[in-house]
Amino acid sequence: MSSEKVSCLIIGSGPAGYTAAIYASRAGLNPVLYTGGQPGGQLTITTDVENYPGYPEGVQGPQMMMDFEAQARRFGADIRYGLATKVDFSDSTLHKVWIDGDHLIESPTVIIATGAAAKWLGLESEQRLNGHGVSACAVCDGFFFRNQEVAIVGGGDTACEEASYLAKLCKKVYMIVRRDELRASVIMQERVKSLPNIEILWNTETEEVLGTNEVVGVKVKNVQTGESTQLDVTGFFVAIGHKPNTDIFKEYIDMDAAGYIQTVKGSTKTNITGVFACGDAQDNIYRQAITAAGTGCMAALDAERYLAEKGLH
Ligand SMILES: Cc1cc2nc3c(=O)[nH]c(=O)nc-3n(C[C@H](O)[C@H](O)[C@H](O)COP(=O)(O)OP(=O)(O)OC[C@H]3O[C@@H](n4cnc5c(N)ncnc54)[C@H](O)[C@@H]3O)c2cc1C
Repeated sequence: MSSEKVSCLIIGSGPAGYTAAIYASRAGLNPVLYTGGQPGGQLTITTDVENYPGYPEGVQGPQMMMDFEAQARRFGADIRYGLATKVDFSDSTLHKVWIDGDHLIESPTVIIATGAAAKWLGLESEQRLNGHGVSACAVCDGFFFRNQEVAIVGGGDTACEEASYLAKLCKKVYMIVRRDELRASVIMQERVKSLPNIEILWNTETEEVLGTNEVVGVKVKNVQTGESTQLDVTGFFVAIGHKPNTDIFKEYIDMDAAGYIQTVKGSTKTNITGVFACGDAQDNIYRQAITAAGTGCMAALDAERYLAEKGLH
């Protein structure tokens, strides 16, 4: 077992973590950042990113995250491969985080930027066509399907929200709902039911996403009648929820029922002093690269002010 002390530890290497690293290094905090199992975060599994400001022609997700990393390295951020496997936040002045089980880092400030992962149906075809017509984010990818027919799976608030968003861009939106009712709030249900280009397919499950290199349709089955049909869609959206990567913090950090970290309004402070949370790990509403980067900036500034108040910086 090895150990070391640092002044600012950042856990996660998506837009939130790297932005926190840029700000923390430029503030002289000498941050150490651990990338986790997905260096660069969720955007490394997508292709075109067209809504991040500063890239007028759009950018490939992996390239964008290499740019973030290069910018953080330029100011001296110490970026390392490794996974935070355990934490002990019981001492409010010096937090302990174990990396890969055997390296202990002690730090007065910890920035949690561990993101979230979209839940998928688990179909082979869904995985194969991910980024080629299959998406878990209507706000990110709906634009690519303007005036086309798409399908979306899910019956909760997020699915309704995303279906309504798609309905403004797309010719037709099939909403694939497993049960005979929506789980969404009444107001969201009313919204989707009132939109003429949304057709809800009740008691329906997805059997297969069709296509070799891009989506050309979706095979669905009515679970009551057993009848299978094909929807001629070019986009397939999965909106069955997200899982924040926050399990290792739950003994200490306040979270909502889904595992999203709760922060003090208008800041990135958690219930533990010196521990800050940013990005998708604390955001169940917006979940965008720009909002993750924005809160990453906030977390670094909050950490810098905390260290200054304690006379540690
Ligand atoms: C397919 C797809 C396409 C998308 N397209 C767009 C788009 O076009 N535009 C847009 O704005 N947004 C898009 N998004 C959403 C965007 O990717 C996320 O909002 C954003 O990446 C969140 O950033 P984050 O830094 O909070 O977390 P993430 O990007 O999720 O990164 C989390 C990081 O934490 C690390 N980590 C997790 N657990 C640990 C641990 N225990 N120890 C150490 N590290 C850990 C991971 O390795 C990862 O590096 C897309 C998402 C997906 C899935």
